[in-house]
Amino acid sequence: MSADFDVVVVGAGVAGLAAARALAEAGARCLVLEAGDRLGGRAFTEFPATLGGAAFDHGASWLHAAERNPLVPIARAAGIPLASTQGDWTRQVMIDGRPATAEEKAAYAATWERFEAVARQRAAADPDTTVDDAVAELRGDPWLATVATWEASLIAAADPRDLSVKDWHLNELSGGNLRVGGGLGAMVARTLHPGAAELRLRTPVTRIAWQTRDGLTLAGEFGAVSARTAIVTVSTGVLCAGHIAFAPALPAAQLAALDGLPMGLLSKVALPAAGADRLGLPPGSSLYRRLDDPAERAVFFSLWSQGQAHAVGFFGGRAGWALAAEGADATAAFTREELRRLLGAAAMTAFGPETVVTRWGTDPHFLGAYAYAKPGCVAARAAMDTPLAGRLWFAGEAWCTDGLAGTVGGAYLSGWRAATGVARTLGLSVPAPPDCSGPAPSP
Ligand SMILES: Cc1cc2nc3c(=O)[nH]c(=O)nc-3n(C[C@H](O)[C@H](O)[C@H](O)COP(=O)(O)OP(=O)(O)OC[C@H]3O[C@@H](n4cnc5c(N)ncnc54)[C@H](O)[C@@H]3O)c2cc1C
Repeated sequence: MSADFDVVVVGAGVAGLAAARALAEAGARCLVLEAGDRLGGRAFTEFPATLGGAAFDHGASWLHAAERNPLVPIARAAGIPLASTQGDWTRQVMIDGRPATAEEKAAYAATWERFEAVARQRAAADPDTTVDDAVAELRGDPWLATVATWEASLIAAADPRDLSVKDWHLNELSGGNLRVGGGLGAMVARTLHPGAAELRLRTPVTRIAWQTRDGLTLAGEFGAVSARTAIVTVSTGVLCAGHIAFAPALPAAQLAALDGLPMGLLSKVALPAAGADRLGLPPGSSLYRRLDDPAERAVFFSLWSQGQAHAVGFFGGRAGWALAAEGADATAAFTREELRRLLGAAAMTAFGPETVVTRWGTDPHFLGAYAYAKPGCVAARAAMDTPLAGRLWFAGEAWCTDGLAGTVGGAYLSGWRAATGVARTLGLSVPAPPDCSGPAPSP
């Protein structure tokens, strides 16, 4: 009686690839089962004809907190160009169809500082609360909704009325922010290939029996395999939807943790630029309007980033879910309407007629962008630190406790941590993750 594999990794996103590569290199008989037809999961670069074949990252596109992001040394070692985004996001904030004045921009910057100071102070106190409640004393400030929407709905993919202020603070992504030449998804697929591990694409796992004689049995339409250990890296959205049935059911503590870490949504819409002068706005500009309410539907645009000839609109949080539910056509129409509102009807000739719309909220392999903690639930991120029955690990961005939750760096570290635990169980050893404690990256 011996299991087919030492370890089966469910999911070939960043966490799964990091774990599988480390374990295969350590000598484990490792199998990766991936539901989709590609590597990288939420790190996914496409080169759509609509955008003239330019690289477009549907999911992750920046290496945040570069000084402590393990993917930075990996990209550097592979010779992949990284560029600082300092100076990008030169903000073009619009108020009632006109650019904000210098005075208004100064007020905006001051609100940002007050927001961070107040929210950080509140995050240090108990009990935990929402970001929205944490900054209640700033209500009435004309820039509050704009700052709160950026910090919560765009960065954390969760509405300020839903997101824990402690979770916001613990995962603030300070430090360098790097763009990846050729796309972050392409970099992940190239540099994190699981090497000697066996890889099966288009192979969704639908059932995991985790207390069998051999250890575990993982099954789906493909059949079944047995393993001594397993690492499940699917999103909390997929787990909460019950797409994988566990036998026996997951313990109450793990179910409660899942409930505390729902998926937020961040969506993107890309529009090609048709006009040659690109509206006179410099590459890396951002364009959005002052909001009156965080519940307002709004799109934040990044223009001609990475030397490319397209604009990318971002929207997230509750408004993002509502828009995504209306479908790609409605989303594209709303995005153009926002651009018209920002730039005027005449400027619309600067954009081509096609759009690329991401679908993370409805794709059954993800069901959202990344997980956020509800108030009082930050400890849930550590709920999977201990393997179930000493053999079933969970990894992925949601379970990162290194201050990089929700990011590719966090997914990588979480996958590596699970690999270290599995290796110990198998009597193997994996090295420390790539050194990411280096100096600040050069611009
Ligand atoms: C729009 C958007 C923008 C983002 N921007 C950034 C950014 O700029 N920087 C950053 O660091 N992060 C960003 N992120 C977050 C980042 O992409 C994720 O945190 C990270 O990629 C998650 O990796 P993971 O391995 O945890 O999960 P995943 O990438 O979701 O990997 C899990 C894998 O499991 C597979 N799977 C699902 N169900 C099954 C099943 N039943 N059986 C087998 N396989 C299954 C999935 O197909 C997937 O490949 C962004 C995400 C989105 C959506």
